[in-house]
Amino acid sequence: MNAKRMDDPGPKRQDSYQEFDASELYCPRCRQAVPVRQRLLLVLPEGDKFEYLCEYCSTSVGTKLARVTKPISLIV
Ligand SMILES: [Zn+2]
Repeated sequence: MNAKRMDDPGPKRQDSYQEFDASELYCPRCRQAVPVRQRLLLVLPEGDKFEYLCEYCSTSVGTKLARVTKPISLIV
């Protein structure tokens, strides 16, 4: 599974940064938008599942499935 990632042409960090629409999410416990930490929850065949945790109270404020977008490679 890791071998797939190595084929990625662009820097992964930049890609994932763009994917995350917000670095802050609403935390129901803090009752405000809070900075979040992401934690790898599951590694699925279709992508990695991340969980977002509130930086202050560590409440889970959301999950995200980072799809492994593999470019269609056609032999031309
Ligand atoms: Zn919180």
